Amino acid sequence: TLKKSLGQNFLIDENILNNIASAADIEEESYVLEIGPGAGALTQVLASRAKKVLAVEIDHRLEVVLKDTLHHFENVSVRFGDVLKLDLHQLISEEFPPDVAVTVVANLPYYVTTPILMKLLTDVLPINTIVVMIQKEVASRLQAVPGEKSYGSLSIAVQYIAEAKIVMTVPKTVFVPQPNVDSAVIRLDVRPEKKVQVADEAFFFKLVRASFAQRRKTLMNNLINNLYDKDQKEYLLTVLEKVGIDPSRRGETLSIEEFARLSDALGSK
Ligand code: SAM
Repeated sequence: TLKKSLGQNFLIDENILNNIASAADIEEESYVLEIGPGAGALTQVLASRAKKVLAVEIDHRLEVVLKDTLHHFENVSVRFGDVLKLDLHQLISEEFPPDVAVTVVANLPYYVTTPILMKLLTDVLPINTIVVMIQKEVASRLQAVPGEKSYGSLSIAVQYIAEAKIVMTVPKTVFVPQPNVDSAVIRLDVRPEKKVQVADEAFFFKLVRASFAQRRKTLMNNLINNLYDKDQKEYLLTVLEKVGIDPSRRGETLSIEEFARLSDALGSK
């Protein structure tokens, strides 16, 4: 029996499985980290193309099933545990040779998509590409640009580190059991350098979150309500003018570059 609470919606469409592996450019020299192998449908496709696959699964009950589906492959290691709690650095160094670039491929459990992606992107791991199946709505947030409805602090957090591109959208019907929402496969390519350079990263993200706190409010109102006091309005106006950002604009129209400029001009707080 599958556990809904663990996001166990298994992929059954052979074409989609192949498309995911192709979207991640998996070839004979690839080292792949898979999160949530489930019954091993995607793992098999990855293992038949890659040098080695390391799969991390939370549900110990799947051990027997995975042993069965993967018994043809000698290049797969399955480790059991919660990917959010495991030391991925250590795991990767135990399973892969030193200095290899790792590709992450997964049909992610939807209840923990964002924390998993943020962990993969911010733990400074040797990962260069991430190709994952996620909720379509989350995928649009990852890819969104200023002015789009789904543009928000998650778009910035991800695009700061990686380039995000939706590869395909996928109907619910290719899963068993069917999830409630449609899905999309997104590819994230980790940038050689962060998209913008900021003096104080923590403050930059504080500023971004404050600016998006209330949708449809002006940037000025969001800053005063969520990060500064009313009596600092004059100061804010001066700084905004200095960096060329109209205070009546809405937070969700600012680009990453504009947030970076504003962050540096305001200094930390
Ligand atoms: N890869 C399989 C497929 O495509 O058919 C299964 C994908 S299913 C959407 C997500 C898988 O992630 C499940 O097998 C689930 O048990 C596992 N999972 C859920 N939470 C996890 C966690 N925190 N760490 C590791 N695996 C997890």
